[in-house]
Amino acid sequence: MTILELKFDKKIYSTKVRPLWCPGCGDFAMFKALKEALYELQLDPKQTILVAGIGCSSKMSDAVGVYGLHNIHGRAIPSATGIKMANHNLNVIVYGGDGDMLGIGGNHFTHACRRNMDLTLIIPNNHTYGLTTGQTSPTSDIGYKTKTSPKGSFDRPVNPVFAAISAGATFVAKVSSADNKHMGKVMTAAIAHKGMSVVVIDQFCITWNRINTPDYYADKYFDVQETDHDLSNFEDSLLLANMTGDRIPFGIIYHTEKVKSFEENYSQLQGKSNVERRSRQLIDVSDMLDSYI
Ligand code: SF4
Repeated sequence: MTILELKFDKKIYSTKVRPLWCPGCGDFAMFKALKEALYELQLDPKQTILVAGIGCSSKMSDAVGVYGLHNIHGRAIPSATGIKMANHNLNVIVYGGDGDMLGIGGNHFTHACRRNMDLTLIIPNNHTYGLTTGQTSPTSDIGYKTKTSPKGSFDRPVNPVFAAISAGATFVAKVSSADNKHMGKVMTAAIAHKGMSVVVIDQFCITWNRINTPDYYADKYFDVQETDHDLSNFEDSLLLANMTGDRIPFGIIYHTEKVKSFEENYSQLQGKSNVERRSRQLIDVSDMLDSYI
């Protein structure tokens, strides 16, 4: 696409709001990468909504220049599902951290993946509850010491990439908030995918998490796109996703177009959206309501 063909300028994808993130937090890089992806895809800001949960990273919905909905904790996915049901022509992006999406919202995460609805779920995973001063989250490593776990966490961490693939998401990737360009490219591919796409970001919380730092990952990451891994192979992708420790896969890990999306399966979500049909389908329920009085 040439510059002359671009309808939306980069600036349109920012609001005047700058969330209060700690200097050096990975949220800044994710903000930049997400704007790059929206620009690259030339998504109409009036046809795009960012549905966020609660947490440091979820303040993103105030900063990105598209419609935003800042939800109660853990409920971004059901709200996004409702939005998509009402108007499946919207680009719906869900944004929430590890605590939000894999803790209180864990149930919604599983069912959204298996439904394969055309949503993009971005999970900044800083392995801690940053906003509430650094308690253990569902993805905290064993041994992670906090004020509420002074002897170190002993619960085994959730592996969000493995969980997303096994639950049925059809595009699953892992990126790092230390690699802005790569993050933007993967987000672009995820948003363009028709079906449930999940991007897990190893996000660095420099204030509370002194374990999962860029240095910690530097020698461990290997780029899946530089291997001969078949992205559409479910079993092999699960094996890759399950790799932790000294070798951690990085990039797009699973991608298939073979599974029908929720929208393709659901006849009411084809053609005109329910919002557009609504005026012709209004039903007067006053008699029914009166019968309860
Ligand atoms: Fe970022 Fe951590 Fe600060 Fe939250 S507490 S803004 S995640 S560095």
